Amino acid sequence: MCYGSVSIRLYIFAHNNLRTALALRIGLKLIYAFTCARVLIPRHSSDGISPGGYVGGGHLLIVLERTDEWQIGFVFLHGRFRDIKANGLVGVKNEVGAILPAVQDGMSAINEWKDVAVLNVESSRLAKWYDQNLLLIGDAAHVMSPVGGVGINYAIQAAIVMAGIVGPALLQNSLTESHLAKVQKKRIWPTRVVQWFQGVLQKRIVRAA
Ligand SMILES: Cc1cc2nc3c(=O)[nH]c(=O)nc-3n(C[C@H](O)[C@H](O)[C@H](O)COP(=O)(O)OP(=O)(O)OC[C@H]3O[C@@H](n4cnc5c(N)ncnc54)[C@H](O)[C@@H]3O)c2cc1C
Repeated sequence: MCYGSVSIRLYIFAHNNLRTALALRIGLKLIYAFTCARVLIPRHSSDGISPGGYVGGGHLLIVLERTDEWQIGFVFLHGRFRDIKANGLVGVKNEVGAILPAVQDGMSAINEWKDVAVLNVESSRLAKWYDQNLLLIGDAAHVMSPVGGVGINYAIQAAIVMAGIVGPALLQNSLTESHLAKVQKKRIWPTRVVQWFQGVLQKRIVRAA
């Protein structure tokens, strides 16, 4: 089927490489962030470790089972990494061991900071998701934290809304900035609500720890 020619140029970004540059131009709201220091330790059937989430000492420990290793994620509020690093690896091992003594032996395999992968998890959204001939959707417009496991849904929903609004306008060669604004208008509230909820949930987890 031929839909005719389209002479409007529109860039839709669903990856966030451009975001940092754009944030300077159109404003970024950083809601909260946390950090996960991840290590891999050897796994044996006699370890007595169960995968799951463990809390204690103001930290969250996430234990995942891999083929030959346990993946241990030590989660703390963003900004605390400098203090944690200043206490040295021994401090981390002690804190992890205090939360889950069963991993203490395995943690002796971690002897250098290079064995620790540090992941900063951001939650943020741009004040404006569009500009002339430009539309950002998904994490490019609003970075979602892993809390609640909803980020992928939100990215897909944004794509569906975008297709429903921008698609017909492109086919009719009538796309204007107001169509791009409409995409943001439809998605901003669900995004605000879920990011607020993720923030509350994360603070509760850390407070309860
Ligand atoms: C540690 C962690 C765990 C998470 N766990 C979950 C979970 O369990 N469930 C959940 O729903 N959400 C989870 N999230 C959130 C979720 O990952 C994101 O919200 C979601 O992936 C956003 O989808 P997206 O398509 O917008 O962006 P992305 O998934 O980041 O996709 C962007 C794509 O663009 C590509 N790309 C980058 N640069 C370029 C370029 N220059 N040109 C072309 N392509 C490019 C990338 O390779 C990538 O494929 C998690 C987030 C983190 C940080």
